[in-house]
Amino acid sequence: MAKITRVLQTRSKLPAAKPIKKVAAKPVPARAAKRPVKPEPSKKKPSKPKTPKTRPWSSAEVYEAFSRFRHANPEPKGELEHLNAYTLLVAVVLSAQATDAGVNKATRALFAIADTPEKMLALGEDSVRDYIKTIGLYRNKAKNVIALSAKLIAEFGSVVPRSRAEIESLPGAGRKTANVVLNMAYGEHTMAVDTHVFRIGNRTGLAPGKNPLEVELGLEKMIPSEFMLHAHHWLILHGRYICLARKPRCDVCLINDLCRWPEKTVQVSPLPARGERSPRTSRGG
Ligand code: SF4
Repeated sequence: MAKITRVLQTRSKLPAAKPIKKVAAKPVPARAAKRPVKPEPSKKKPSKPKTPKTRPWSSAEVYEAFSRFRHANPEPKGELEHLNAYTLLVAVVLSAQATDAGVNKATRALFAIADTPEKMLALGEDSVRDYIKTIGLYRNKAKNVIALSAKLIAEFGSVVPRSRAEIESLPGAGRKTANVVLNMAYGEHTMAVDTHVFRIGNRTGLAPGKNPLEVELGLEKMIPSEFMLHAHHWLILHGRYICLARKPRCDVCLINDLCRWPEKTVQVSPLPARGERSPRTSRGG
């Protein structure tokens, strides 16, 4: 007990703890208070890499390119086999998402026995399906071939119509089909844009576009009328044999000096100014 008393006596001798001073907050200067608060840097999404913009083709360059195509192949031919406008229409409808070679393999026998809408209708959907079963989407395509044949008989006197709207009204026929038929069967200056033409329009910078219609309209605007009858075939053949999707053969390309593709595998000097003769023109015309 005496021990506890001593401890208490000792504690009471300790100096009293100083009271904690309260620090008043400094007033914010008027100017600083008015200063607008900086917004936090926004977290921007990384933008997509842009396709490099290239110099558009001049009309002289377009003329030069198609002159070379014409010189190399004055009468280009499509590779879809057909016997008349009707079989051409059927072949084009069958060629959607299929190769021309694959379609030809199937249609040779089919067209030998059915080269008119009446004969096709008489053959019937099941038999048509059998003939074309090596082609992708053949069930639906057989249905369309029978339906378009029936419509041709009922509404167009068994003749393939000559207007885009009428061709597009046929089952299985879209804008590309109409353009091919109008061009090949009726000599119209149309531009059918398939995968090859779409690639070339964009890659070369001749007629860039986000979809086939933009490329089609761009090409129609750029290509002089004198080349339009064959332009579609020149571009398809160029895409099929030279400007290949994966490994374009730029070294043997007729228009490699004009092409704007940054990744082309040859670097050649650009087309000389008007009045000068280009090596190609001087070589062959
Ligand atoms: S230069 Fe090459 S990329 Fe350009 S059109 Fe010719 S093949 Fe195609």
